[in-house]
Amino acid sequence: MKILVVEDELKTGNYLRQGLQEAGYLVDLVRDGRDGLHEALTGDYDLAILDVMLPVMDGWSILRGLRAAGKPLPVLFLTARDEIDDRVRGLELGADDYLVKPFAFAELLARVRTLLRRGKSKDAETMSVLRAADLELDLLRRRVTRGSQRIDLTAKEFALLELLLRRQGEVLPRSLIAAQVWDMNFDSDTNVVEVAVRRLRAKIDDEFPLKLIRTVRGMGYVLEDGAQDSGGQ
Ligand code: CA
Repeated sequence: MKILVVEDELKTGNYLRQGLQEAGYLVDLVRDGRDGLHEALTGDYDLAILDVMLPVMDGWSILRGLRAAGKPLPVLFLTARDEIDDRVRGLELGADDYLVKPFAFAELLARVRTLLRRGKSKDAETMSVLRAADLELDLLRRRVTRGSQRIDLTAKEFALLELLLRRQGEVLPRSLIAAQVWDMNFDSDTNVVEVAVRRLRAKIDDEFPLKLIRTVRGMGYVLEDGAQDSGGQ
């Protein structure tokens, strides 16, 4: 776990660096805001601890720069006791937590641990969302959206879409789909897969200009970004 500390006061900066290193973290310490933003944008950090009042560029500007660049790095602010509006301002800018100076190191460490844990669960959340173009399937919330539109699927349609998304770009034979989604051996007399694909298309493809599911004649189905429907079954 790597932490960026941006603090211009020598004593506080060194105290933070030493304490965090003793707690087992890798720490980079920089002393002005411009270096801070550059490091935060380019370095591989799990957390940034930012002082508010900094030379060249203040802590708010660093946070604004990070969020503008779409960087989801968790940020803990250090604010002075008399900066009473800071909490509100920081919240609006997307800060994750605050600590008022002077603070006990144990308190800082507790906040750091919480933020790092939260960051990890955000990663796990990202991995539970499957995407193709503007289609999103959220495995945790069991929710499917295309653009801003929420789409209701049955359990089987959901499983079918999940399979197609997990193996994007791959032509999946009907027999494989039948085995994985319905847990049954393919029977040439049943058209259960065709029917399910047609229903799924009606929900996720038919009313959208960009079609995602393509039929590969005599072979099966493939889900791709920007697939053109060749028609037929
Ligand atoms: Ca300062």
